[in-house]
Amino acid sequence: MLGAMESADFTGPGADRPRWRENVPFWAVHGVAVVMAIAVGWSSAALWWLVGGYAIRMFVITAGYHRYFSHRTFKTSRWFQFVLALVAMSTAQQGPLWWAAHHRRHHKYSDEPEDIHSPRQRGFWWSHAGWILGTRHKATDFDRIKDFAKYPELRFLNDHDLAFAIAWGFVTYAIGGSVALAWGFFVPVVVAWHITFCINSLAHVWGRRRYPTSDDSRNNLALAVLTFGEGWHNNHHHYQRTARQGFYWWEIDVSWYGLKLLELLRIVWDVEGVPRHIRNNDIAPERERIAAAAVPPSG
Ligand SMILES: [Zn+2]
Ligand SMILES: [Zn+2]
Repeated sequence: MLGAMESADFTGPGADRPRWRENVPFWAVHGVAVVMAIAVGWSSAALWWLVGGYAIRMFVITAGYHRYFSHRTFKTSRWFQFVLALVAMSTAQQGPLWWAAHHRRHHKYSDEPEDIHSPRQRGFWWSHAGWILGTRHKATDFDRIKDFAKYPELRFLNDHDLAFAIAWGFVTYAIGGSVALAWGFFVPVVVAWHITFCINSLAHVWGRRRYPTSDDSRNNLALAVLTFGEGWHNNHHHYQRTARQGFYWWEIDVSWYGLKLLELLRIVWDVEGVPRHIRNNDIAPERERIAAAAVPPSG
């Protein structure tokens, strides 16, 4: 997130309080997005920059940060994992190691007291953005992401996330001028922030629960459309090992389609699908095992 600052190791009392001064960049980006959008105005070029700027960001966050770096649901080359991370810098959601390490912790403790962004534990706004505005969670928990922290190029991106986010702003401006900077950078960054945050907040309170997971995760069509599939969040908490979050053909999952296309192009491979017994929540084998164990030994 823009707003990462030097006191990243501050985890003492008060570390959860919003740090207004240090988060000036975070709020400033919101302000600049609104002011620039009004100043530049709407046009067909604005529409294309917005749609493209949002789509690219949502894909690299969901397919890259989430389904690859956090959950390793497909394989790819070292260069393409770098490309995913580099493009994801344009989202200003901090580095891949920071993002994925925090997300792994969310799954380990989903909606338990140790979960860092649980609406059940600390309310909606905390889970949406409060947890990133304090200092407690600014640092990267490298112990949870050792598998990717071993790549120096990823560590470099992770250590310089703010610089790369700003650089993407310059690149966008160089390509398309102020229309691009407003509608292809600032506005989609802010929109993608809040839509991403909604998975931590709304997707744990609003929607249907197909699977009785121990957390409060929900499936929500509106969020699934906006987040390229991440709104099938109860599916995802039920089974994290698949690159596919819409478990049925009618559960729209744009990032899954994108990954299948990249698989056809041989850019990614071993893209994990959803085993039928997982999708059907078929607990029969488990029942049989328990029943077999309950039979008293003969003789
Ligand atoms: Zn996840
Ligand atoms: Zn969740």
